Amino acid sequence: MRVGRVISGVLQGMEFIPVTVEVTASNAESARFVIVGLADTAIREAKERVLSALHALGVKLPNYITVNLAPAEVKKEGTGFDLPIALAVLVATNEISPIPQDRAVFGELSLDGKVRGVSGILALSLGAEKKGFSGVVLPKENENDLINRDNFCYWGTDSLAQLVGSLKDHKSLKLNIQNKVESKRQLKPFSGIVGQEKVKRALTLAVAGGHHFLMVGPPGCGKSLLASRVPHLLPPLSEEEQYEVLFLKSLSRGSKDLSVLPPFRSPHHSVSDAGLIGGGSPPKPGEITLAHRGVLFLDEFPEFKRSALEALRAPLEAGYVEISRVRGKERYPANFQLIAAMNPCPCGYFGDPRCSCSKSSIQKYLNKVSGPMLDRFDLQVSVERVDPYISEVDDEEILLEKIIDIREQQLKRSGVLNANLASKEMLSTLNSNQKLSAILKKTNLTMRGIVRVLRVSRTIADWDGSESVGESHLLEALSFRNLDRLMAGG
Ligand SMILES: [Zn+2]
Repeated sequence: MRVGRVISGVLQGMEFIPVTVEVTASNAESARFVIVGLADTAIREAKERVLSALHALGVKLPNYITVNLAPAEVKKEGTGFDLPIALAVLVATNEISPIPQDRAVFGELSLDGKVRGVSGILALSLGAEKKGFSGVVLPKENENDLINRDNFCYWGTDSLAQLVGSLKDHKSLKLNIQNKVESKRQLKPFSGIVGQEKVKRALTLAVAGGHHFLMVGPPGCGKSLLASRVPHLLPPLSEEEQYEVLFLKSLSRGSKDLSVLPPFRSPHHSVSDAGLIGGGSPPKPGEITLAHRGVLFLDEFPEFKRSALEALRAPLEAGYVEISRVRGKERYPANFQLIAAMNPCPCGYFGDPRCSCSKSSIQKYLNKVSGPMLDRFDLQVSVERVDPYISEVDDEEILLEKIIDIREQQLKRSGVLNANLASKEMLSTLNSNQKLSAILKKTNLTMRGIVRVLRVSRTIADWDGSESVGESHLLEALSFRNLDRLMAGG
């Protein structure tokens, strides 16, 4: 008895796990077709699609077929196993010669033997490539989801018949993928935004030091527009980072978006905890993972569910998120720059005659963001509707180069961006500088607040090319604590 073996696979977190589809077939008195090996419902139903597609091919099948998906302890999901199962049956029955084991096979079958697209195919392919596979056999329908890889081959097929034909007479189904990754950036990150110099300065410093950032201002003052430009301020992604970004996009939505700019995600405040953090069934990465290497923008910050914001805290510290599933946990990266925006009061027009909010309603509104979450923002900046003066901006191309430069310096110096410097290290700078501690004593900042201000001061000092943090750096950093002042009622 010949065993038909075809390799397919699944993703566990960021890792591709090869799955061997093994088939034995024989003639027996009673017919059966059984699939074993921790398959989900979609795979157990593959039986009907596979049998029908094989009949359409016109091959005579033995009536006793056993399919085993190994390793048994790995959970297999989805319809992508149809094609490898059908091929393994054909190998087991000597209809075709064995398929080389260095290529992985994915595809859903229709009842008449057409091969349908599979979601997340780019993530599967990139994962297989990383595991050392030489290529993948996949639905031609997925052609536009792929990116060109120099030493990795894609074979695309429209139908089981076409694939079998090509295996018999060695016609090549090699796809010639032209898709290039899209990394075009806006050369001038703030082009078209008049004024708002203080916010631009703060955003630039936030990116330069990796600081999380909160904007407070009335509706329509340009908070979203300013936030949306931040990916254009971030350093370009390295090849490895581009790979991660494309992988995660494909994994979560089967996305055809091949842009490798640092991502910009801006979920609505009604987003579920699972939608924001990741989870669900089957578990999928959430917005924080899609924002990995880029920006997570939370507009109308106080309107987000408390539970969602609570759940945000751990990944914000760790740079990754762990999602529980029936068997163990899956880890996804979530290293992003957080930018949040909010109104200064429920109506949004605080300080303007139009504002009709009572003192208590304003306090209640601000309290929604108080506490540990607010603590995460190194910079809090007021955005005004009109900015009365327009100063000379640095040439924005130089701006970008400087940001890249300063981030590299920080990594070289301490292995992390300033936003992640240890509290101890920050506070120790105070011991040696009486002037700075005198200034800070006059503020009503908490210890955590002081640490955050010192981190921003460090970034400003870096921006000035100064080795040590001076008074002017500290004073500017203190000017970016608008919400603290608002909360103190001033
Ligand atoms: Zn108001």
